[in-house]
Amino acid sequence: MDWWRGDDAFRARVEADPAGTVAAYGIRVDPDAVRSLCDADPGVDGAAHPALAPYYEDLRARAAVYDELDQLESTIADPGFAGWRQRQRQRFATQAPDAWGRKNPHLMFSIELSDGCSIACPYCAGAPGRLTSVSRFTPANAARFRGAIQAIKAMSGCSTLSGVLYHFTEPLDNPDYERFLEAYREELGVVPQTTTAAWAKRPERTRRLLAMAREHGRGVQRFSVNSVEAFRSCMALFTPEELRHVLIVHHYPEAGGVYYRSGRARSRDDAVDGSIACVSGFLINLPTRTIQLVSPCIEPARWPKGFRSFATSTFESDDDLAAFVARQRHEVFDRVLHDDAPVALRNDVSLLEAEDGTLRLRTLYRTFTFGDRLQQRVLRHCSPTATVASVIDDCSREHSSAPVFAFLQLLWDAGLLEDGAWR
Ligand code: SF4
Repeated sequence: MDWWRGDDAFRARVEADPAGTVAAYGIRVDPDAVRSLCDADPGVDGAAHPALAPYYEDLRARAAVYDELDQLESTIADPGFAGWRQRQRQRFATQAPDAWGRKNPHLMFSIELSDGCSIACPYCAGAPGRLTSVSRFTPANAARFRGAIQAIKAMSGCSTLSGVLYHFTEPLDNPDYERFLEAYREELGVVPQTTTAAWAKRPERTRRLLAMAREHGRGVQRFSVNSVEAFRSCMALFTPEELRHVLIVHHYPEAGGVYYRSGRARSRDDAVDGSIACVSGFLINLPTRTIQLVSPCIEPARWPKGFRSFATSTFESDDDLAAFVARQRHEVFDRVLHDDAPVALRNDVSLLEAEDGTLRLRTLYRTFTFGDRLQQRVLRHCSPTATVASVIDDCSREHSSAPVFAFLQLLWDAGLLEDGAWR
Protein backbone atom coordinates (compact mmCIF):
# COMPACT_ATOMS: atom_id res chain seq x y z
CA MET A 1 0.00 0.00 0.00
CA ASP A 2 2.94 2.33 0.65
CA TRP A 3 4.15 1.72 -2.90
CA TRP A 4 0.64 2.29 -4.25
CA ARG A 5 0.19 5.57 -2.44
CA GLY A 6 3.72 6.85 -2.78
CA ASP A 7 4.84 6.22 -6.34
CA ASP A 8 2.92 7.21 -9.46
CA ALA A 9 5.20 5.08 -11.68
CA PHE A 10 4.36 2.03 -9.56
CA ARG A 11 0.63 2.76 -9.84
CA ALA A 12 0.88 3.03 -13.62
CA ARG A 13 2.74 -0.28 -13.88
CA VAL A 14 0.24 -2.06 -11.61
CA GLU A 15 -2.65 -0.85 -13.75
CA ALA A 16 -0.98 -2.38 -16.80
CA ASP A 17 0.42 -5.58 -15.27
CA PRO A 18 -0.44 -6.26 -11.60
CA ALA A 19 1.25 -9.66 -11.21
CA GLY A 20 4.36 -8.71 -13.17
CA THR A 21 4.77 -5.45 -11.24
CA VAL A 22 4.53 -6.88 -7.73
CA ALA A 23 6.97 -9.62 -8.78
CA ALA A 24 9.39 -7.04 -10.22
CA TYR A 25 9.26 -5.01 -6.97
CA GLY A 26 9.75 -8.12 -4.84
CA ILE A 27 6.38 -7.64 -3.09
CA ARG A 28 5.02 -10.94 -1.80
CA VAL A 29 1.30 -10.36 -2.31
CA ASP A 30 -1.58 -11.61 -4.40
CA PRO A 31 -2.58 -8.56 -6.48
CA ASP A 32 -6.23 -9.65 -6.50
CA ALA A 33 -6.25 -9.69 -2.70
CA VAL A 34 -5.14 -6.06 -2.37
CA ARG A 35 -7.14 -4.69 -5.30
CA SER A 36 -9.99 -3.54 -3.04
CA LEU A 37 -7.55 -1.47 -0.96
CA CYS A 38 -6.36 0.36 -4.05
CA ASP A 39 -9.84 1.12 -5.35
CA ALA A 40 -11.11 3.03 -2.33
CA ASP A 41 -10.38 3.80 1.30
CA PRO A 42 -11.71 0.65 3.00
CA GLY A 43 -11.87 2.07 6.54
CA VAL A 44 -10.62 -0.20 9.30
CA ASP A 45 -13.32 -2.89 9.33
CA GLY A 46 -13.03 -4.44 5.91
CA ALA A 47 -11.61 -7.92 5.31
CA ALA A 48 -12.14 -8.48 1.62
CA HIS A 49 -9.60 -11.30 1.57
CA PRO A 50 -8.21 -13.52 4.37
CA ALA A 51 -4.68 -12.51 3.39
CA LEU A 52 -5.50 -8.93 4.45
CA ALA A 53 -6.35 -9.82 8.06
CA PRO A 54 -2.97 -8.67 9.51
CA TYR A 55 -3.23 -5.43 7.52
CA TYR A 56 -6.64 -4.64 9.01
CA GLU A 57 -5.37 -5.62 12.43
CA ASP A 58 -2.68 -2.93 12.10
CA LEU A 59 -5.23 -0.36 10.86
CA ARG A 60 -7.43 -1.05 13.87
CA ALA A 61 -4.44 -0.75 16.22
CA ARG A 62 -3.63 2.65 14.70
CA ALA A 63 -7.23 3.81 15.08
CA ALA A 64 -7.28 2.58 18.70
CA VAL A 65 -4.63 5.17 19.59
CA TYR A 66 -7.37 7.81 19.44
CA ASP A 67 -9.52 5.78 21.86
CA GLU A 68 -6.54 5.55 24.20
CA LEU A 69 -6.14 9.32 24.03
CA ASP A 70 -9.83 9.73 24.92
CA GLN A 71 -9.36 7.42 27.90
CA LEU A 72 -6.33 9.38 29.00
CA GLU A 73 -8.37 12.56 28.78
CA SER A 74 -10.87 11.13 31.23
CA THR A 75 -8.10 10.61 33.81
CA ILE A 76 -7.28 14.34 34.09
CA ALA A 77 -8.13 15.13 37.69
CA ASP A 78 -7.77 18.91 37.55
CA PRO A 79 -11.15 20.28 36.41
CA GLY A 80 -9.66 23.55 35.10
CA PHE A 81 -7.10 21.86 32.85
CA ALA A 82 -9.67 19.27 31.71
CA GLY A 83 -12.23 22.00 30.92
CA TRP A 84 -9.70 24.18 29.11
CA ARG A 85 -8.51 21.27 26.97
CA GLN A 86 -12.06 20.25 26.20
CA ARG A 87 -12.86 23.81 25.13
CA GLN A 88 -9.79 23.94 22.87
CA ARG A 89 -10.84 20.66 21.25
CA GLN A 90 -14.34 22.00 20.70
CA ARG A 91 -12.99 25.27 19.31
CA PHE A 92 -10.66 23.44 16.90
CA ALA A 93 -13.60 21.27 15.82
CA THR A 94 -15.52 24.44 14.89
CA GLN A 95 -12.56 25.59 12.78
CA ALA A 96 -11.50 22.37 11.02
CA PRO A 97 -13.34 20.21 8.50
CA ASP A 98 -14.92 17.20 10.23
CA ALA A 99 -12.22 14.61 9.55
CA TRP A 100 -9.36 16.88 10.66
CA GLY A 101 -11.00 17.73 13.96
CA ARG A 102 -11.04 14.10 15.07
CA LYS A 103 -7.52 13.37 13.82
CA ASN A 104 -5.78 16.03 15.90
CA PRO A 105 -4.51 14.28 19.06
CA HIS A 106 -4.27 17.51 21.15
CA LEU A 107 -1.26 16.20 23.04
CA MET A 108 -0.70 17.61 26.51
CA PHE A 109 2.85 18.74 25.92
CA SER A 110 5.85 18.85 23.65
CA ILE A 111 9.46 19.31 24.70
CA GLU A 112 11.67 20.41 21.83
CA LEU A 113 15.32 19.39 22.13
CA SER A 114 16.81 21.61 19.41
CA ASP A 115 16.83 25.25 18.38
CA GLY A 116 16.15 25.28 14.63
CA CYS A 117 16.15 22.33 12.26
CA SER A 118 18.73 20.83 9.91
CA ILE A 119 16.27 19.54 7.33
CA ALA A 120 14.59 22.67 5.85
CA CYS A 121 11.59 20.85 4.36
CA PRO A 122 10.05 23.09 1.68
CA TYR A 123 6.54 22.66 3.13
CA CYS A 124 7.42 23.13 6.81
CA ALA A 125 4.54 24.81 8.62
CA GLY A 126 6.80 26.02 11.42
CA ALA A 127 9.59 27.30 9.14
CA PRO A 128 12.23 27.08 11.89
CA GLY A 129 15.60 28.70 11.22
CA ARG A 130 18.71 26.63 10.60
CA LEU A 131 19.84 24.35 13.40
CA THR A 132 21.84 26.41 15.87
CA SER A 133 21.97 24.31 19.03
CA VAL A 134 20.72 21.18 20.76
CA SER A 135 20.28 20.37 24.44
CA ARG A 136 22.51 17.44 25.35
CA PHE A 137 21.37 15.07 28.08
CA THR A 138 23.40 16.78 30.80
CA PRO A 139 22.36 16.54 34.47
CA ALA A 140 20.99 20.12 34.32
CA ASN A 141 18.97 19.49 31.13
CA ALA A 142 17.76 16.13 32.42
CA ALA A 143 16.55 17.89 35.60
CA ARG A 144 14.68 20.53 33.57
CA PHE A 145 13.23 17.83 31.30
CA ARG A 146 12.03 15.63 34.15
CA GLY A 147 10.94 18.68 36.14
CA ALA A 148 8.70 19.86 33.30
CA ILE A 149 7.00 16.48 33.01
CA GLN A 150 6.57 16.20 36.78
CA ALA A 151 5.10 19.71 36.97
CA ILE A 152 2.48 18.90 34.30
CA LYS A 153 1.70 15.61 36.04
CA ALA A 154 1.26 17.38 39.37
CA MET A 155 -0.90 20.15 37.94
CA SER A 156 -3.12 17.82 35.88
CA GLY A 157 -3.36 15.05 38.45
CA CYS A 158 -2.59 12.50 35.70
CA SER A 159 -0.21 9.62 36.29
CA THR A 160 0.56 9.51 32.59
CA LEU A 161 0.45 12.18 29.91
CA SER A 162 0.42 12.44 26.13
CA GLY A 163 3.46 14.16 24.69
CA VAL A 164 6.20 14.21 22.07
CA LEU A 165 9.76 15.51 21.98
CA TYR A 166 9.51 17.70 18.87
CA HIS A 167 7.13 20.27 17.42
CA PHE A 168 8.75 22.37 14.73
CA THR A 169 12.09 20.59 15.19
CA GLU A 170 13.67 17.35 13.94
CA PRO A 171 14.12 14.91 16.83
CA LEU A 172 17.11 13.12 15.31
CA ASP A 173 19.05 16.41 15.16
CA ASN A 174 19.75 15.78 18.83
CA PRO A 175 22.38 13.05 19.34
CA ASP A 176 20.87 12.37 22.78
CA TYR A 177 17.28 12.03 21.56
CA GLU A 178 17.12 8.38 22.63
CA ARG A 179 18.37 9.26 26.14
CA PHE A 180 15.53 11.76 26.48
CA LEU A 181 13.13 9.08 25.20
CA GLU A 182 14.38 6.78 27.93
CA ALA A 183 13.89 9.50 30.56
CA TYR A 184 10.37 10.09 29.17
CA ARG A 185 9.69 6.37 29.58
CA GLU A 186 10.95 6.41 33.15
CA GLU A 187 8.60 9.31 33.95
CA LEU A 188 5.54 8.20 31.98
CA GLY A 189 5.88 4.48 31.29
CA VAL A 190 5.97 4.53 27.48
CA VAL A 191 8.14 5.77 24.66
CA PRO A 192 6.31 8.55 22.76
CA GLN A 193 5.79 8.68 19.01
CA THR A 194 8.64 9.84 16.80
CA THR A 195 8.10 11.71 13.53
CA THR A 196 11.32 12.13 11.61
CA ALA A 197 12.38 13.45 8.23
CA ALA A 198 15.97 12.34 8.98
CA TRP A 199 15.29 8.59 8.77
CA ALA A 200 17.97 8.16 6.06
CA LYS A 201 20.81 10.01 7.78
CA ARG A 202 21.92 7.07 9.91
CA PRO A 203 19.77 4.06 9.02
CA GLU A 204 21.17 1.94 11.86
CA ARG A 205 20.16 4.60 14.37
CA THR A 206 16.69 4.70 12.80
CA ARG A 207 16.45 0.91 13.07
CA ARG A 208 17.41 0.99 16.75
CA LEU A 209 14.83 3.72 17.34
CA LEU A 210 12.11 1.65 15.63
CA ALA A 211 13.07 -1.37 17.73
CA MET A 212 12.86 0.75 20.90
CA ALA A 213 9.43 2.03 19.86
CA ARG A 214 8.21 -1.50 19.10
CA GLU A 215 9.32 -2.68 22.53
CA HIS A 216 8.23 0.25 24.68
CA GLY A 217 5.96 2.44 22.54
CA ARG A 218 2.41 2.46 21.25
CA GLY A 219 0.90 3.08 17.83
CA VAL A 220 2.99 4.03 14.84
CA GLN A 221 6.14 6.02 14.19
CA ARG A 222 6.13 8.43 11.26
CA PHE A 223 8.62 9.04 8.45
CA SER A 224 8.23 12.31 6.56
CA VAL A 225 9.21 11.70 2.95
CA ASN A 226 9.83 14.73 0.77
CA SER A 227 10.16 13.40 -2.80
CA VAL A 228 9.31 10.34 -4.84
CA GLU A 229 13.05 9.62 -5.13
CA ALA A 230 13.39 9.73 -1.33
CA PHE A 231 10.37 7.44 -1.07
CA ARG A 232 12.00 4.87 -3.36
CA SER A 233 15.20 4.99 -1.35
CA CYS A 234 13.21 4.55 1.88
CA MET A 235 11.60 1.41 0.48
CA ALA A 236 15.02 0.10 -0.53
CA LEU A 237 16.64 0.99 2.81
CA PHE A 238 14.12 -0.63 5.16
CA THR A 239 12.43 -4.01 5.04
CA PRO A 240 8.63 -4.37 5.03
CA GLU A 241 8.91 -5.81 8.56
CA GLU A 242 10.83 -2.74 9.75
CA LEU A 243 8.23 -0.46 8.17
CA ARG A 244 5.24 -2.39 9.48
CA HIS A 245 4.57 0.09 12.27
CA VAL A 246 5.76 3.14 10.36
CA LEU A 247 3.35 5.59 8.78
CA ILE A 248 4.97 7.10 5.71
CA VAL A 249 3.80 10.67 5.34
CA HIS A 250 4.19 11.63 1.70
CA HIS A 251 4.99 15.30 1.14
CA TYR A 252 5.30 15.44 -2.63
CA PRO A 253 2.95 15.91 -5.58
CA GLU A 254 3.20 12.36 -7.00
CA ALA A 255 1.58 11.07 -3.78
CA GLY A 256 -1.06 13.80 -3.57
CA GLY A 257 0.46 15.33 -0.41
CA VAL A 258 -1.51 18.15 1.24
CA TYR A 259 0.32 21.38 2.08
CA TYR A 260 -0.97 23.79 4.69
CA ARG A 261 -0.65 27.50 3.91
CA SER A 262 1.69 28.13 6.77
CA GLY A 263 5.40 28.65 7.31
CA ARG A 264 7.40 27.81 4.16
CA ALA A 265 4.28 26.65 2.30
CA ARG A 266 2.57 30.04 2.59
CA SER A 267 3.16 31.02 -1.01
CA ARG A 268 2.36 27.65 -2.61
CA ASP A 269 -0.59 27.84 -5.02
CA ASP A 270 -1.79 24.37 -4.00
CA ALA A 271 -1.65 25.03 -0.22
CA VAL A 272 -4.82 25.03 1.88
CA ASP A 273 -5.51 26.71 5.21
CA GLY A 274 -4.99 24.24 8.02
CA SER A 275 -2.75 23.33 10.91
CA ILE A 276 -0.31 20.55 11.75
CA ALA A 277 0.04 21.77 15.34
CA CYS A 278 -1.00 19.01 17.73
CA VAL A 279 -0.47 20.27 21.30
CA SER A 280 -3.17 21.69 23.56
CA GLY A 281 -0.95 22.30 26.54
CA PHE A 282 2.69 23.12 27.10
CA LEU A 283 5.25 23.74 24.37
CA ILE A 284 8.73 23.81 25.84
CA ASN A 285 11.99 24.43 24.01
CA LEU A 286 14.95 23.27 26.09
CA PRO A 287 17.79 25.05 24.21
CA THR A 288 16.03 28.43 24.05
CA ARG A 289 14.58 27.95 27.56
CA THR A 290 11.10 29.05 26.50
CA ILE A 291 7.73 27.70 27.54
CA GLN A 292 4.31 28.51 26.10
CA LEU A 293 0.73 27.45 26.63
CA VAL A 294 -0.57 26.64 23.14
CA SER A 295 -3.41 25.03 21.21
CA PRO A 296 -3.92 24.23 17.49
CA CYS A 297 -6.08 26.60 15.47
CA ILE A 298 -7.00 27.52 11.92
CA GLU A 299 -6.85 31.28 12.08
CA PRO A 300 -4.19 32.03 9.47
CA ALA A 301 -4.47 35.82 9.67
CA ARG A 302 -3.87 35.96 13.42
CA TRP A 303 -1.91 32.76 14.09
CA PRO A 304 0.03 31.94 10.90
CA LYS A 305 1.86 28.93 12.40
CA GLY A 306 -1.38 27.09 13.14
CA PHE A 307 -1.44 27.39 16.91
CA ARG A 308 -2.64 29.93 19.45
CA SER A 309 -0.29 31.00 22.20
CA PHE A 310 -2.05 31.86 25.46
CA ALA A 311 1.01 32.62 27.59
CA THR A 312 4.76 32.55 27.17
CA SER A 313 7.80 32.81 29.41
CA THR A 314 11.46 31.93 29.75
CA PHE A 315 12.95 29.63 32.37
CA GLU A 316 16.27 28.70 33.89
CA SER A 317 15.39 25.90 36.26
CA ASP A 318 12.81 23.18 36.76
CA ASP A 319 11.38 25.39 39.53
CA ASP A 320 10.70 28.13 36.94
CA LEU A 321 8.93 25.56 34.75
CA ALA A 322 6.81 24.36 37.65
CA ALA A 323 5.90 27.96 38.51
CA PHE A 324 4.77 28.69 34.93
CA VAL A 325 2.67 25.52 34.80
CA ALA A 326 1.05 26.28 38.17
CA ARG A 327 0.39 29.90 37.14
CA GLN A 328 -1.65 28.79 34.11
CA ARG A 329 -4.13 27.17 36.44
CA HIS A 330 -5.00 30.51 38.05
CA GLU A 331 -4.55 32.71 35.00
CA VAL A 332 -6.08 30.54 32.24
CA PHE A 333 -7.51 27.14 33.21
CA ASP A 334 -9.77 28.32 36.02
CA ARG A 335 -11.57 30.95 33.96
CA VAL A 336 -15.33 30.66 34.31
CA LEU A 337 -18.20 32.77 33.08
CA HIS A 338 -18.83 35.23 35.91
CA ASP A 339 -20.83 38.47 35.69
CA ASP A 340 -17.92 40.59 34.45
CA ALA A 341 -16.50 38.00 32.05
CA PRO A 342 -16.14 39.30 28.46
CA VAL A 343 -18.40 37.62 25.91
CA ALA A 344 -17.12 38.40 22.42
CA LEU A 345 -17.40 35.95 19.55
CA ARG A 346 -14.02 34.72 18.35
CA ASN A 347 -12.20 36.88 15.79
CA ASP A 348 -12.40 34.20 13.11
CA VAL A 349 -16.18 33.90 13.47
CA SER A 350 -18.57 35.98 11.36
CA LEU A 351 -22.27 36.40 11.96
CA LEU A 352 -24.57 36.54 8.94
CA GLU A 353 -28.32 37.19 8.67
CA ALA A 354 -29.76 34.56 6.31
CA GLU A 355 -32.78 35.18 4.08
CA ASP A 356 -34.73 32.42 5.84
CA GLY A 357 -34.58 34.35 9.12
CA THR A 358 -31.88 32.24 10.70
CA LEU A 359 -28.56 33.55 11.93
CA ARG A 360 -25.46 31.88 10.52
CA LEU A 361 -22.22 31.69 12.40
CA ARG A 362 -19.33 31.01 10.02
CA THR A 363 -15.70 30.03 10.37
CA LEU A 364 -13.30 29.23 7.56
CA TYR A 365 -14.66 25.70 7.04
CA ARG A 366 -17.81 25.47 9.17
CA THR A 367 -21.27 27.06 9.38
CA PHE A 368 -23.67 26.85 12.33
CA THR A 369 -27.30 27.89 12.03
CA PHE A 370 -29.36 29.45 14.83
CA GLY A 371 -33.12 29.79 14.44
CA ASP A 372 -34.08 30.25 18.09
CA ARG A 373 -35.04 33.82 19.06
CA LEU A 374 -33.18 33.85 22.37
CA GLN A 375 -30.05 32.45 20.79
CA GLN A 376 -30.15 35.02 18.01
CA ARG A 377 -30.58 37.83 20.48
CA VAL A 378 -27.65 36.67 22.61
CA LEU A 379 -25.42 36.22 19.57
CA ARG A 380 -26.18 39.75 18.38
CA HIS A 381 -25.23 41.12 21.80
CA CYS A 382 -21.88 39.37 22.01
CA SER A 383 -19.18 41.99 21.30
CA PRO A 384 -15.72 43.05 22.49
CA THR A 385 -17.33 45.37 25.06
CA ALA A 386 -20.06 43.00 26.27
CA THR A 387 -19.99 41.06 29.53
CA VAL A 388 -22.16 38.25 30.86
CA ALA A 389 -24.06 40.78 32.98
CA SER A 390 -24.60 43.23 30.12
CA VAL A 391 -25.93 40.53 27.78
CA ILE A 392 -28.31 39.23 30.46
CA ASP A 393 -29.42 42.80 31.08
CA ASP A 394 -29.94 43.52 27.37
CA CYS A 395 -32.06 40.39 26.99
CA SER A 396 -34.01 40.84 30.24
CA ARG A 397 -37.16 42.35 28.72
CA GLU A 398 -37.89 39.20 26.76
CA HIS A 399 -35.94 36.44 28.48
CA SER A 400 -35.12 35.42 32.01
CA SER A 401 -31.48 35.23 32.99
CA ALA A 402 -31.20 31.41 33.34
CA PRO A 403 -31.66 30.43 29.67
CA VAL A 404 -29.56 33.41 28.53
CA PHE A 405 -26.73 32.33 30.81
CA ALA A 406 -27.16 28.69 29.75
CA PHE A 407 -26.72 29.67 26.10
CA LEU A 408 -23.66 31.80 26.89
CA GLN A 409 -22.24 28.80 28.74
CA LEU A 410 -22.90 26.63 25.71
CA LEU A 411 -21.05 29.11 23.46
CA TRP A 412 -18.18 29.20 25.95
CA ASP A 413 -17.94 25.40 26.22
CA ALA A 414 -17.96 25.14 22.42
CA GLY A 415 -15.01 27.51 22.26
CA LEU A 416 -16.96 30.03 20.19
CA LEU A 417 -16.28 32.90 22.59
CA GLU A 418 -12.89 34.60 22.58
CA ASP A 419 -10.86 33.36 25.51
CA GLY A 420 -7.39 34.46 24.48
CA ALA A 421 -7.64 38.06 25.70
CA TRP A 422 -8.94 37.58 29.24
CA ARG A 423 -6.99 39.45 31.86
S1 SF4 B 1 8.90 19.63 8.86
FE1 SF4 B 1 10.10 18.97 10.65
S2 SF4 B 1 12.00 18.19 9.80
FE2 SF4 B 1 11.04 19.41 8.18
S3 SF4 B 1 11.92 21.50 8.41
FE3 SF4 B 1 10.01 21.43 9.60
S4 SF4 B 1 10.65 20.90 11.66
FE4 SF4 B 1 12.34 20.35 10.29
